[in-house]
Amino acid sequence: MKVQILKCEFCNLFTLEKDCPKCGKKTVNPKPAKYSENDKFSKYRNIARNQI
Ligand SMILES: [Zn+2]
Repeated sequence: MKVQILKCEFCNLFTLEKDCPKCGKKTVNPKPAKYSENDKFSKYRNIARNQI
């Protein structure tokens, strides 16, 4: 199952929510990183999962 990682640019917080759970602002689709995207995203995915 593929999940969409979103980011609150205001809090610099990664989440799966469309609204930031911290400040309530709209989250955005973060731009692809120039380095090791898979590794980076799996890390954030784990962080986001722990926040739910
Ligand atoms: Zn926020």
